Amino acid sequence: MARITLDHLAHAYKPNPEGAGDYALKEINHVWSQGGAYALLGPSGCGKTTLLNIISGLVRPTRGRILFDDRDVTDLPTEARNIAQVFQFPVVYDTMTVRENLAFPLKNRGVPQDRTIARVEEIARLLDLARVLDRKASNLTADMKQKISLGRGLVRSDVAAILFDEPLTVIDPHLKWQLRSTLKEIHRALDITMIYVTHDQTEALTFADKVVVMHDGAVVQTGTPDELFERPAHTFVGHFIGSPGMNVLPCRVEGAAAYVGEGRIELTRVYPGLPEGRRIELGIRPEFAWLRSRGQGLPVRVRRIDDIGRARIARVEMDGKPLAASVPDALVIDGEEAALSVDPSHVHIYADGHLIPGEPLGRGGRP
Ligand code: ATP
Repeated sequence: MARITLDHLAHAYKPNPEGAGDYALKEINHVWSQGGAYALLGPSGCGKTTLLNIISGLVRPTRGRILFDDRDVTDLPTEARNIAQVFQFPVVYDTMTVRENLAFPLKNRGVPQDRTIARVEEIARLLDLARVLDRKASNLTADMKQKISLGRGLVRSDVAAILFDEPLTVIDPHLKWQLRSTLKEIHRALDITMIYVTHDQTEALTFADKVVVMHDGAVVQTGTPDELFERPAHTFVGHFIGSPGMNVLPCRVEGAAAYVGEGRIELTRVYPGLPEGRRIELGIRPEFAWLRSRGQGLPVRVRRIDDIGRARIARVEMDGKPLAASVPDALVIDGEEAALSVDPSHVHIYADGHLIPGEPLGRGGRP
């Protein structure tokens, strides 16, 4: 097990990179704590695999260092880093039994036979593979084969970290939920640093204690699932996490109020020195914006109401801008005209996409 430090790390696939646009990974400084369960979350092309390959040693970074505890491993090959990796598609030996597949990484490193037997049985039990241990891998389904791959990644107890690159891609949807929970339990049982790459927010939020969100080659926020939901540090995080994502509306801020067109939204913080000439926006999640009857808040026009099972979500327009809001159970709206009320403590202000912390209001609601 190890603490993994990314120190001023950056990577360009192009030789002689110049501007930021030439970098697949912009500068990253980050510490993955020993024993943590992390997800690396972001859309396709944001740099997740590049970062994972730098950690495992498959790619050497253009700039910066990577440390395992205090040891600089930047120039060490993969074999010397003591990392286990699980990929999107199963990596198993078809001619071997499940037991032999699971034992392989241990046998390779000369782990004594009694310890190997015990460890293989433990991992097989955790992954629900015990009943197929003596079957040939070739006869098993893709789901089962990927479980064996997971087992091969998990079986060594001496690894610095386990890296999972979208490991549930081939898993049947109904099994995915179960395997995600299993992986979380396994993390608790084994206490190994795990980094789980995915573009799927549900996978990231259910597996990880801390989620690292990437966008366009940069880490835009690291936080617990609650932190990402409650206080998105970047409008991208607000959009990307949540279903539907956070509403982001251009606004102007005056004292403790934000204005979207003529609509005034109270704030619980003030923003002195808000940078001039930058794009100022407010963010409010649909969970904290409520549809009301006409006259009971900011005027909005209702476009449609979606029933998403656990809630009803109204798609409305405010000052011509689309917005999603929650619909209270008992509310009946007649026609298109309605109103919106928001919880001011959940309204965030952004400049050029970045959260502006602001300052709390003084006593009596004064700046
Ligand atoms: P995905 O989820 O689709 O795998 P990702 O978030 O893992 O995406 P990367 O695969 O790391 O993203 O790619 C980041 C950027 O680097 C992309 O613009 C990609 O086109 C580019 N890239 C990746 N590998 C190479 C390579 N070997 N040579 C040149 N460019 C590459």
